Amino acid sequence: MATISLPRLRARIEALARFGALPGGGVTRSAWSRPHEEARTWLLDEMRAAGLEPWVDAAGNVFGGLGLRELDAGRPAVLTGSHIDTVPEGGILDGALGVLAGLEALHVIQETGAAHTRPLAVAAWSDEEGRYGSLFGSRAFCGMLEVARLSEMAAADGERLVDAMARAGFDALRAPEAQAPAGACAAYVELHIEQGPRLEEAGVPIGVVEAIVGVRRTRVIFIGQADHAGTTPMERRRDGFLAAAEFALKARDLVVKRGSGRSVTNFGVVHVHPGVSNIVPARGELVHEMREPDPAVLDRLARECAALARRVAKRRQVQVEFRPLSATAPAPCAPRVQAIIETAAGELGLGTQRLHSAAGHDAQNLAAITDAGMIFIPSKGGRSHRVDEMSDWEAIERGGNVLLHTLLALAN
Ligand SMILES: [Zn+2]
Repeated sequence: MATISLPRLRARIEALARFGALPGGGVTRSAWSRPHEEARTWLLDEMRAAGLEPWVDAAGNVFGGLGLRELDAGRPAVLTGSHIDTVPEGGILDGALGVLAGLEALHVIQETGAAHTRPLAVAAWSDEEGRYGSLFGSRAFCGMLEVARLSEMAAADGERLVDAMARAGFDALRAPEAQAPAGACAAYVELHIEQGPRLEEAGVPIGVVEAIVGVRRTRVIFIGQADHAGTTPMERRRDGFLAAAEFALKARDLVVKRGSGRSVTNFGVVHVHPGVSNIVPARGELVHEMREPDPAVLDRLARECAALARRVAKRRQVQVEFRPLSATAPAPCAPRVQAIIETAAGELGLGTQRLHSAAGHDAQNLAAITDAGMIFIPSKGGRSHRVDEMSDWEAIERGGNVLLHTLLALAN
């Protein structure tokens, strides 16, 4: 039975970690940044050295093909991959593992001449972490880009996507050309670190993802009345911030009590206007995020939270407005791919557990155009999006071998 080379995979993981490396460990490698573009060049060289046919599409996605030079509707390919961009002060495995284990799997198939009737390709999807637009490259590939928004997309610091991509030698307005021909993908499977504690705590080496959560972000704005913070009697105040604060606490309880048990919510952005200590806040603004793998539950929670916000606003005599910011639908993984991953793990003597992904991944976009699945390996301490994110090398080797045999099964 063919197996991956852990020393070769480890050497590539450590080599990629040098692009954007931070002095205290970890890495900052934002999409389209200089370290990211240097990593792209390195990755293309590694693909070539592994006997793959590399190419880059109009959205900056990097591909290494085995048995194909470009995606072709006439010869559907089995795809794997992930991303090589990172969050600021991120770890060395998020995304990198899926790309480099995919490269290693194809390298092994290439050098052993393992039979595969379908062509294979490994992809590194651009801007997965969303410095300019989350899951950008896979959205372009799957035909999901909002073309009209491309020229206004920008990072939190105001840098425009068109400028960042131009610096890296790409034309953002042409990114929609990256859309894959219909029928060009036979299946997609992505290996990723779990980024949470469930597998480690259960002592299970391989996670089989059933669904990826949908994420909904809404700006909720409570509009009251600015007043003198000293002279206005307490009972006459229409405080936009206190309404927002009450809503945040009650929405948290609502999601915990009325959600599926997998539902989570967060208020990570709060603005108070005018933000002066001697003025009663006229406005309190929140960004309300919710995640849940079941679309019906996510819809219901969104309706119930909106009704809650209206009740809070009414009682506090303020207005409330909702501005939807983004909404991704929950993505179920294909039962066929889940079964193949379980069979591959079983043949390697590895236990599996089905779970949902509470983080977004490129696989959720691929799930809309082909049979998609994900393989998780345990994250040490459940840590991710931080510099000490890590998994045991043995866990990485197991995940790589499950990926290899899943790809072979999908390609035959
Ligand atoms: Zn990732």
